[in-house]
Amino acid sequence: MNAELDLALERRIGKRSAAVIEKHLGITTVEGLLTYFPRRYLTRGELTPISELPLDEEVTLIARVLSSSTRHMQARRGTITDVIVSDDDGQQGLRLVGGRDFRGKVPGTLKISFFNGYKAKTELLQGRRALFSGKVTSFKGQLGLTNPDFLILDDDPFVQGDADAGRLAAMPIPVYPATAKLPSWKIQKVIATLLETTDLGSLADPVPEAVATREAFLPVADAYRLIHAPETAADWQRARERFRFQEALVLQSALARRRAQLAAEEATARRPLSDGILAAFDQNLPFTLTGGQTAVGSTLAGELAQDTPMNRLLQGEVGSGKTVVALRAMLQVVDAGGQAALLAPTEVLAAQHYDSIRRTLGPLSGDGLLGGLAAGSGPSVQVTLLTGSMPTAARKQAMLDAASGTAGIVIGTHALLSDTVSFYDLGLIVVDEQHRFGVEQRDALRAKARKPPHLLVMTATPIPRTVAMTVFGDLETSTLEELPKGRAPITTHLVGLAENPGWVARIWARAREEINAGHQVYVVCPKIGADDDGDFSPGEAEPPGLDAEESQRELASVTAVVEHLQAEPSLAGVPLAPLHGRQDPDLKTETMAGFTANRIKLLVSTTVIEVGVDVHNATLMVILDADRFGMSQLHQLRGRVGRGGLPGTCLLVTALEPGHPSRRRLEAVAATTDGFVLSQEDLKLRREGDILGASQSGGRSTLKLLRVLDHEDVIARAREDAQAIVGADPLLAGHPELADAIEKYLNPEKEAFLERG
Ligand code: ADP
Ligand code: MG
Repeated sequence: MNAELDLALERRIGKRSAAVIEKHLGITTVEGLLTYFPRRYLTRGELTPISELPLDEEVTLIARVLSSSTRHMQARRGTITDVIVSDDDGQQGLRLVGGRDFRGKVPGTLKISFFNGYKAKTELLQGRRALFSGKVTSFKGQLGLTNPDFLILDDDPFVQGDADAGRLAAMPIPVYPATAKLPSWKIQKVIATLLETTDLGSLADPVPEAVATREAFLPVADAYRLIHAPETAADWQRARERFRFQEALVLQSALARRRAQLAAEEATARRPLSDGILAAFDQNLPFTLTGGQTAVGSTLAGELAQDTPMNRLLQGEVGSGKTVVALRAMLQVVDAGGQAALLAPTEVLAAQHYDSIRRTLGPLSGDGLLGGLAAGSGPSVQVTLLTGSMPTAARKQAMLDAASGTAGIVIGTHALLSDTVSFYDLGLIVVDEQHRFGVEQRDALRAKARKPPHLLVMTATPIPRTVAMTVFGDLETSTLEELPKGRAPITTHLVGLAENPGWVARIWARAREEINAGHQVYVVCPKIGADDDGDFSPGEAEPPGLDAEESQRELASVTAVVEHLQAEPSLAGVPLAPLHGRQDPDLKTETMAGFTANRIKLLVSTTVIEVGVDVHNATLMVILDADRFGMSQLHQLRGRVGRGGLPGTCLLVTALEPGHPSRRRLEAVAATTDGFVLSQEDLKLRREGDILGASQSGGRSTLKLLRVLDHEDVIARAREDAQAIVGADPLLAGHPELADAIEKYLNPEKEAFLERG
C-alpha cells in the first residue's frame, strides 16, 4: 500500500545511519522513524528549569555554563572537569557561585562531571548556552550529570544558514526520546535527512478527506515536516493535532470494525424458561434485587435470547452485587441447554465463587444432568471448579465434566484457557474483574465454543469514559449504580507512624476490640516473606513516587507480621493465620474456609484477598505499608469490610513522612469512598500501557500522541467518525489507507516481518 512508508530505512538515510537507528531505537522502516515524534520542544531562548527535571531518565535540557574547573584525579591518571550549569539567565547564579570552583548546593544548578573531557574543557566556557543530554542523578542533594553528550547552541548546526537571527531564536528545538548513546539532536539530524530524501508527497492519508477537511488538518506531508522541523510553536501544535486525531481514528475504527464483526457473528439464542432453574432460584432469593440488578438483568436476559452474541461490560462499585446478576444470566443459559464459564483472576477468588455460588444455589446445585431434571427432585445444575493447582485426578474429572456437558457452570482461573480444556456447548462466558484480563484471553475462551458465545465482562474498577471507549470499545456497557440496602459505610483512617510511632500498639488493641465484639480482622502486607515481591499481579503498576532510599526500607511481610502478632500481648489467644499466593492450594482453601466460618479471627494476607472475597463478619482492615499499594487497589481492598451491615473500618498504615507524595495518595483514599474519583486519580498516575493492558499495547503503549485520559474530546470525535465510516463501509473497501493503518496498529509484528521480507 504505502510503499514509501514500508521502505527499509537504509534506502533513505544510508546504511550507516540506519544501522545506528536500528541499534539504539530498534526502528527499521521509514514509517518507524517518521513517526518517532519529538516528546517535547524546547525554546531556544529559554533555559530548562533544572529543579523540574526527572531523576534517572534520559533528559535533554538547555542550560548556561556558570563555571568550569579541571583537576587531576588522585588515584588514577586523567582529569575531571566539573562544569556547573544553571537555568538562571541572569547574574544570580554567577554571584552565588562566584565563578569559582563550586562545592555547595545552589538551587537551579546542575553539576556536570566529565572524565578526561577535553572537548568539555575547551568548549563549555563560562556564559555559553548548550544542550545537554543524559541521566540526571542526585548526590547529597546536588543534581548532577556524568559524561553527558552536549551541543553548544551557538554552533548549533540547525542555526547555521541564511535564516535571520530573530526567526531562529523562536525556532523550537525538538526533543526526542533519547538513549544514553544517541542524544536527541543526533536523532534530529538523521530525521532531517529522512525528511529530505523521503517522497513525502506520495504518502497516503489514513484520515478520510471529508474528515481532514472538516478538521482543517495539515496535509500529511506538511504535518510530518512540521512535527519534526517546526519553525514556530504553532507549527508543531497543528501537526501534533492531526497525528493525534489520526491515532484516535485508527484505534476507534479498529474497535468499530471489531464491534461490527462481533455483531455479524451468529450465536445460539438462549431463551429463558418460565419453569427452569432460574425461575426456581428467583423464588428462593434471600433478598430483593436492587433496581439496578433488575434492570441489568433484563437487559442481559434479552440479549442472551438473541442469536447475535452479547458483548457486554458490567461495571459496579465493590459490593454492588454483580455476582448474582452474572449467576442469573448463567442460569438462563443453563436452562436453555448451554454451559456457562466463570473466569476469575485468582485461585482464591475462583474457590470463593465456587463455594458461594453453590451455597446461593442451595438445592438447585446438584449433580443432575445439564439443565435437566434430576430424577425425583427439581431442576438442578452441576457447578464445577477447575483451577491449575487442583490435584490431577480432580482436574481431569472437572475437564471431563466440562467436555461432556455434565457441568453446567464451570468456575476457574486462567487454567480454563488452556488448550486441553473443552466444553460440550459453551453458551456464556463471564469474566470477573476484567482489569486483570486482556482481549486475547477473552478471545482464547471464545474460541472454545462452537458458535461465538455470549460474553459478560465484570469490573469493580470504575473506568473513565475515555478509557472504556478505548479499552472496552468493542463492548456495550451497563453500570450498577446503587449498593444493596443495609450496606454500612466504611471509615478510612490514615495512620502515620513517622509522627506517631506509638500507634502500632493502638492498632492491635483496636483489632482486639473488634474480635472481642465477635468480629473479624484482615491485616494486609505488601510482601510474603523477607525477600520477595508479594503477590503483585502482572500489570499492576509499582506505585509511583518512591525514591531509592524509600524502596530500600524493610516492608511488612506476612511471615514477619504473623510472628509479631503471635507475640503481641493484646492479641494473646486470638486464632490467626497467614494467607498468600505461594501457599499450598489446600492450605489456602482451608484457611479461607476457617476465616469464613469465623474460626480464624484475624487473617494476615497479601493482596490475594483484593478482589471479590466476601466475609460479612469482617469489620476491620489494617493495611500495612499502605503506600506500597495503588489507589484503586486500596479501594478494592477496603471493600472487603463492611459487607454484612456492620460498619467497616480501614486503617492505612504508613511510615512515610507527612507531605511525601505517596502519602498524599493515601490521604485521597481516606478522603473519599467514591471509586470513580479514585480510579480517575489513580489512572493519571499510571503509564498509558498499564491502562491499555499488556495485550493492547504489547507491554508498552503503542499510542504515540494520544493520552486516553487527557484527550476525551479527540477520542469522542474520532469514535463518531469511526462509527460512521465503518457503518457505511464495514470492509473499509473505500478507505484502503485506513484499513492499512488499522492492520498495522493491530499487528505490529506482522509489519516488522513484511519489512524484512
Ligand atoms: P461485587 O459486585 O463486589 O462482586 P458481590 O456480588 O460479591 O459484589 O456482592 C456482595 C454481597 O452482597 C454478597 O454477599 C451478595 O450476596 C450480597 N448481595 C447482592 N445483591 C444483594 C441485594 N440485592 N440485597 C442484599 N444483598 C445483596
Ligand atoms: Mg465480585
